[in-house]
Amino acid sequence: MNAALFDAWLRSFARLVAEHEDELTRLDSAIGDADHGANMNRGLAAVVGAIDPNVAAGPLLANAGMTLISTVGGAAGPLFGTFFLRMGNVLDDVPFATALRAGLDGVVQRGKAEANDKTMYDALAPAVEAVEKAAADGLSLPDALAAASAAADEGCAATIPLVARKGRASYLGERSVGHQDPGATTVTLLFRSLRSSC
Ligand code: ADP
Ligand code: MG
Ligand code: MG
Repeated sequence: MNAALFDAWLRSFARLVAEHEDELTRLDSAIGDADHGANMNRGLAAVVGAIDPNVAAGPLLANAGMTLISTVGGAAGPLFGTFFLRMGNVLDDVPFATALRAGLDGVVQRGKAEANDKTMYDALAPAVEAVEKAAADGLSLPDALAAASAAADEGCAATIPLVARKGRASYLGERSVGHQDPGATTVTLLFRSLRSSC
C-alpha cells in the first residue's frame, strides 16, 4: 500500500474531525470536560501541516503519531498518536491488518482499556478485528474497510449504555450511562475516512 493512500487518509480524517468538532465537543461535555473536538481538531491540523510528501507510508504515519502526541494534551490525542506511531513503525514490513493490530496494541499498552470500559477501544478493537477477519477470508481492501467502518459504528453505538471505567468519564460512574463515548465516535470518523481514501 503506497504512501498516497495514507496521506489521503490523514487529510480526510482531519477534515471529518473538523466537520464534527462541535459534535465531539458536545459528547465530551456530557461525560468529560468538553475539549475532545478541539483537542483532536488542533492535533490533526498540525498533522496535516507536517505531512512530508516524500516519505514512505510507514514514516508518514509515524510522524503523524508523533505530532499528535506532542501537540495534544489530554487522553485521546496521545492515544490516537500512539495508534498511528505504532502502526507506522511496522507498516512498510507487514500486512495492513498486522499494522492495525500493532496500533491497537499500542493504545492498550498506553491506556490499559479493556472491552466495555466505554472508550475509543470499544470502536477500535472491533474495527481491527473486522479487517483481520476480512484478510483471512480473502476479501478485497474496499470490502475489508467497509466491514471495519461498520464494526466501528456498531462498537461506538454500543458504548451508550456502558458505565465508563477509564478516563475522565469514569469519574461520573453510573451517570456516564446513556451517553456515547467521544473517543469512540472519533474512531468511527477514522474508519470512515480510511474507507473513503481507498
Ligand atoms: P481528556 O479526557 O483528557 O479531556 P479527550 O477529551 O480528548 O481527553 O478524550 C477523551 C476520550 O479519550 C474518551 O472519550 C475515551 O474514548 C478516550 N480515553 C480516555 N482514557 C482512555 C484510556 N485509558 N484508554 C483508551 N481510551 C481512553
Ligand atoms: Mg476531554
Ligand atoms: Mg481534557
